[in-house]
Amino acid sequence: MIQLIRGFKDILPDETETWRYIENMAIALFQSFGFKEIRLPIVEKAELFQRSIGEHTDIVEKEMYTFVGSKEQLITLRPEATASVVRSYIQQKLYAQEPIQKLYTIGPMFRRERPQKGRYRQFYQINAEVFGIASPYIDAQLIFMLWTFFERLGISGLSVQLNSLGCPACRPAFKEALSSHLASKTGKLCADCIRRQDKNPMRVLDCKVPSCQEVIGDAPSMKDYLCDECARHFDAVQSALGLQGIPFVLNSRLVRGLDYYSRTAFEIQTNALGAQNAIAGGGRYDMLVKMLGGPAQPAIGFAIGLDRLVSLVMQGKYEKELTPDIFIAALGEETREKTFEWSCALSVAGIRTEIDFSGKSLKALMKRANRINAANVLIVGSQEIEAGAVVLRNMATKEQVTIPIDGMVNHIKKHLAS
Ligand code: AMP
Repeated sequence: MIQLIRGFKDILPDETETWRYIENMAIALFQSFGFKEIRLPIVEKAELFQRSIGEHTDIVEKEMYTFVGSKEQLITLRPEATASVVRSYIQQKLYAQEPIQKLYTIGPMFRRERPQKGRYRQFYQINAEVFGIASPYIDAQLIFMLWTFFERLGISGLSVQLNSLGCPACRPAFKEALSSHLASKTGKLCADCIRRQDKNPMRVLDCKVPSCQEVIGDAPSMKDYLCDECARHFDAVQSALGLQGIPFVLNSRLVRGLDYYSRTAFEIQTNALGAQNAIAGGGRYDMLVKMLGGPAQPAIGFAIGLDRLVSLVMQGKYEKELTPDIFIAALGEETREKTFEWSCALSVAGIRTEIDFSGKSLKALMKRANRINAANVLIVGSQEIEAGAVVLRNMATKEQVTIPIDGMVNHIKKHLAS
């Protein structure tokens, strides 16, 4: 038997309801905040990610699925969506129609990471990106929107981790201070961090290796290096979050794994998923549009990890919605035509209907109705058809009512609504 590749997974019908439920909730909420959908290819030129995410990041150094396309071009399965959205904003000149664009997109990302619970090589994200707004209120509004989304899904035990990564005016001094701190403790750093120390010292800050954590413990903090403008921006984000009653924790070690961030960086973490505790993350990337050849437009966005969110929601009380409203137990060959017609009519009327054509006994059919969690069973034998009325049994209360065949769809609709 050919099996799927390690780090990849099938999303089975049991789960897809939850996926769709979450996606629909996100879409409805994001639209009410002014977002529109954008759909983009899952492959892009490798260069797009190398230039945006940064050469010296884990993603670009070791996690991208890159292959040679036509004309020797290096092509990459997208490891994240922001770079593609920015590419499209520039290439399609969306900024010329209207510089302020609020876009969301949902789809798979690919990273060759070490597979483990909550970490896959193909995983799914819901991304939201805002272009053209520099105001700190939009940072707070995005975080508020995320928080509201998780609240609506009934998820608790969440925290918002918040940091500012400064800007090109103030970050170099911080990087220098950090580098000299790290240089004085090189002996304690892991092999990865020794490498990062020169090329990308900020990445050392989120290393999980215990000896590195020790070094990081007394490392300098970006907040002490923020220039006036960055400090004002960061303060304003915090007050706006306070106004909306969003609890947040300042976390000076939160750097996120991608180079393009500036100023606000945030992550939503849960205490319910073990090691892979981040369910969403994002931040500002005010320099990226220009860096990729577009106009100087500020931007900010986030990505929600759908795989992890689905497992959280499935752990919770969320009840599956898509079980059948009606299961038609058709008894005997003579009922086949009529019940076939009714099942089509009920489905068309928006009633989730399942029918069994196997010709099994009533007992066997009731068993199957139970197994698939049907709310009601419509029992139809030739006697019922002759009498012009069928029996509808509520599987939870065991209550049975008689439904006239004439105008049945409407009768059933009314009955279900009551
Ligand atoms: P990032 O693009 O790394 O900022 O990730 C944003 C969110 O995507 C994270 O908070 C995770 O929830 C999710 N995520 C990132 N990488 C993976 C992965 N390999 N498997 C599953 N979810 C992931």
